[in-house]
Amino acid sequence: MKTRKSRLPEVYKFGGASLADGAAYKHAAGISKACAAPLAVVCSAPAGVTDLLLAVADHARAGDREKTATALEAVREKYRVVLRQLVLGQRPKAELAEVVDQSMAELEMLAGGLVALRELTARTSDLVVSRGERLSAEIFCAVLRAAGVKAQVVDALEVVHTEGPFGGAAPELARTDAAVRTRLRPLMSRGVVPVVPGFLGAWHKEHGQPPALVTLGRGGSDLTATLLGRALDASRVTLWKDVPGLLTADPRVVPDARVIPQLHVREAAELAYYGAKVLHSRALIPVQGKPIPVYVRPFAEPNAPGTEISSQQSTDRHPVKALSAVSGQALVTVAGRGLLGVPGVAARTFATLSAHGMSVSLITQASSEQSICFTVPEKEAKAAKEHLDRAFHDEIARRDVDGILVQTGMTTIAVVGLGMAGMPGIAARVFSALASQDINVVAIAQGSSELNISLVVASAQAAQAQKRIHSAFRLSRLP
Ligand code: ADP
Ligand code: ASP
Ligand code: MG
Repeated sequence: MKTRKSRLPEVYKFGGASLADGAAYKHAAGISKACAAPLAVVCSAPAGVTDLLLAVADHARAGDREKTATALEAVREKYRVVLRQLVLGQRPKAELAEVVDQSMAELEMLAGGLVALRELTARTSDLVVSRGERLSAEIFCAVLRAAGVKAQVVDALEVVHTEGPFGGAAPELARTDAAVRTRLRPLMSRGVVPVVPGFLGAWHKEHGQPPALVTLGRGGSDLTATLLGRALDASRVTLWKDVPGLLTADPRVVPDARVIPQLHVREAAELAYYGAKVLHSRALIPVQGKPIPVYVRPFAEPNAPGTEISSQQSTDRHPVKALSAVSGQALVTVAGRGLLGVPGVAARTFATLSAHGMSVSLITQASSEQSICFTVPEKEAKAAKEHLDRAFHDEIARRDVDGILVQTGMTTIAVVGLGMAGMPGIAARVFSALASQDINVVAIAQGSSELNISLVVASAQAAQAQKRIHSAFRLSRLP
């Protein structure tokens, strides 16, 4: 049998939903101990902690001392419960309790400052939430050691390098590759399991200054795991989650959603990008084009296979593999008879948005060229309209453009599958499934890769729409 040292490395990520209590940390340590390959582990914050930390920051910003104190106490209690449930030996337990207490005292000070200032920058918010993952890594490392596994916490700022910004930093791949190799490989070759807090990174914002701490956006621990997998040339990355795998739809919306045994990395990336909460939207970028499969596996059932995301293209009978949805969208329309044949309207529309750092996720233009529609997150819609009103001021005055119309309360649904390329009638099936339920499709887009049909519906009808499309393609019978 091969030893831990001679195999290609693996990366495990334990998600927040899985790390709910002391028993879960112990279970995660058991799964890690059973891995025969050199292993690096990424930890999320325990379930609910990130939301609580954000609540601390929000209440503090609002100047509400009472609510701030209640949220702080709730975070403290979460860690207290986890610690109480762990059997670690007296000294390691006392050391861990000390680390938690210190972090909480620091948080209290930070929150006190925010209450006084009533101002919360994205930088401070990242600093507040970072302790969720950092403490989780400390706890997991102690539990691994108690289970007889050599382990060491390596802070994310040492290995994950980014280009910022705060709140949703984009990784610098080459620099991260180099740092991970230098820092983690020597440990792993000695049989030590590095434990890295997920979701966090370093941003070398100002030359000559120490790097700033940033977060990779909600759900960012998935991305930390694939970044490590890429840098280590891992044989696989496994994301242990509270679901049996990647499912054909969000199980909270479509109860008969099924596990997809295997899907192509491009399909999974499309689902992640279009809102499938199970994967961070950029999680698959680091492994695209690399021979590193990513597995989504059930934490509760470590022997179940889960879902394999790889470059293999399965030729099955299902042209459509899965659905995902992004709610809270606004549909913005630039319309007017005067647009007909006027060059550059689309270019000016998107240049205006991009100049203001706004990212658009779905675009359609009717071939009559009388309107351009796109979606932006609802909270950015007002600003998008103001910028476009200004950019098209002259055209609006001349009535070449009717105005910039905004419809809020929209959801974008993506219907994804590589098998639909070149197969006629897929869009027709989607739309007849919806028409039969009187669901109004407000806009449609299909990429030229024919991997994804996206449609916009009113959020009030989004759940029904997903159920209908799911059953029209018989996804509950997959595979
Ligand atoms: P973790 O904390 O482990 O990263 P998340 O909560 O971020 O876990 O992601 C898992 C959750 O994603 C599931 O509990 C499920 O409700 C939701 N989800 C949404 N779409 C899907 C899907 N297509 N497949 C599986 N889970 C999904
Ligand atoms: N804890 C962070 C979040 O809740 C990151 C993660 O779980 O991946 O978004
Ligand atoms: Mg997640």
